[in-house]
Amino acid sequence: MGTPALWAPQAWLPARGWVDGVLLTPGRDGCWQAVQAGVAQPPEAATVLPGPVLPGLVNAHSHAFQRAFAGLAERREAAQDDFWGWRDRMYAVANRISPAQLQAVASQLYAELLQGGYTQVLEFHYLHHQPDGRPYPEPLAMAQALAAAAQATGIGLTLLPVLYQRAGFAQPALRPDQCRFATTPAGVTAMREGIRAWGLPGVTAGVAIHSLRAAEPDAITALVQGCAGDAGPIHIHIAEQTAEVSDCLAATGRRPIEWLARHVALDARWQLVHATHATPAEMDAVAAAGAGVVICPSTEANLGDGILDLPGWLARHTITSIGSDSHVARHWPHELRALETSQRLALRQRNVAAAPEQGQPATAARLFNHSLAGGAAAAGFAAWGLVPGARADLLVLDGAAPGLLGVPVSQALDGLVFAADAPAFRQVWVAGQCRVRDGRHVQAAALAEGFVGAMQALWA
Ligand code: ZN
Repeated sequence: MGTPALWAPQAWLPARGWVDGVLLTPGRDGCWQAVQAGVAQPPEAATVLPGPVLPGLVNAHSHAFQRAFAGLAERREAAQDDFWGWRDRMYAVANRISPAQLQAVASQLYAELLQGGYTQVLEFHYLHHQPDGRPYPEPLAMAQALAAAAQATGIGLTLLPVLYQRAGFAQPALRPDQCRFATTPAGVTAMREGIRAWGLPGVTAGVAIHSLRAAEPDAITALVQGCAGDAGPIHIHIAEQTAEVSDCLAATGRRPIEWLARHVALDARWQLVHATHATPAEMDAVAAAGAGVVICPSTEANLGDGILDLPGWLARHTITSIGSDSHVARHWPHELRALETSQRLALRQRNVAAAPEQGQPATAARLFNHSLAGGAAAAGFAAWGLVPGARADLLVLDGAAPGLLGVPVSQALDGLVFAADAPAFRQVWVAGQCRVRDGRHVQAAALAEGFVGAMQALWA
C-alpha cells in the first residue's frame, strides 16, 4: 500500500518561504518523492493537513541524560556559582543513571523535542561505561538505550560517540567521577561502526571529541585519521567558557579554535559546538573551512557562558545550527528567540539577525533558514526540508495557539519565534508518520509514566 499524499494550505519551501497549496508525496522509503507547489485544491485522495506547514528542524546538540537534571540545579549554595559548579552536580546524575533509566529519560525528552518541532536529534554521547568504569557486557548498552528511545518515539537520531581521555590540559588521566566516559580513538570509531551495523531506520552515526581539554593532541590526530574517507560528522565542544580559553592558551600558547584550525584540516564535516569565545581571525578560519557552528542559546544562557558574536558569524556566511544541549528548553522557537534577544540586550539594538540589505528583513525567517541548513550539515544530511529526497518530516502550525491567533500566515514564523511561549505545533510527522497529534506525542502518557519512575529511582 502506498502512502497517501499530504496537502498543505501553505508550506515553507526553500528560497521561497510561504507558498500556497503544496502537495507533499511521501515515498515508501519515508522520504519525499514529490513536492508540488501551486495546487490550489487538495486532490480527493490526499490527507489535508490542518494548518501551515514548516519543515522539521535538526537539534544539533543533545546530552539526553541531562534532561533528568533540568530545573534541579537552580539554587546557589556557595558565594558564587558557575559552569564548573554546575558540572560537578551534573556528574551526580551522570554517575548514577542506568541504561534502562537513560532509555526512559531519553524517551520523554525525545517526545518533548518532537512536540517542540525537532525531528532529528544529535546525541553527543559520552556516558559509555558502567558507573565503576568497566564496560557493559554489551559495550554499546548506553547507545542502545538512546536508539531504543528514538525508535519508540519516532525521532531521527545521530549518535556521536565521544572521545574523552583526561580531566584537563595538564592532567594525564580522568577524575574518578569521569570513569564512565573513558575512550580511545579506535574505541570511538568502533562504536560508530557498531551503531551503523545495527541498520536501524532513522539512526545514523558520526564521532565527537569532548573538548581540547579532554583529549590529547595525538589522540585527536588519530581519531581524525580514523575518519579519513568517512562522510559522517565530527563534533567538538569548543570555546564555551573563558576559563577553557585561558587554560588552552596556558597549555598550548593558542586559543582553542585557533589551535584546532592549525592542527586539523577543518572541513564541512566539522561542527564546533558553542564557539562562544572566538576572535575575528578564528571566525575567519572556521568560515573559510566551511565548518559549522552549533549554538545552544538556552543552555549557554543558563550556564552563564557568555554571548557569541552572532553578527560576526552571519556576516561570514558561517553555517550555524542550534542545539538544546542540557534541555532546559526543548522547543526551537525558544532557542531562536533566546539567540536574538541576547544580542538585543548586549548590543542595545533590535532585529540584529535581519539583513534588509540582502532582502531578508524578517529576523525569525533568517534565523530559521540558517538553522534549517546548518542542522542538515551538522547531521551530515545531503537533503533536508520540504524537498524531494529529504526525509518526509513536517510540522503543522496551530493557528489558534497563543502568539499565532489572528497573525497572518505571512508572519506566522515571527509570531512563533517572538510571541508564542509554548510549542505551537498541532502535528509533527517524521518519515511520513504522524508522531504528534493535537500538540501531544501520541504516546505521551505512557512515556511520562516511565520518565517519572526513572526520576524517582534516580533522585531517591
Ligand atoms: Zn554539550
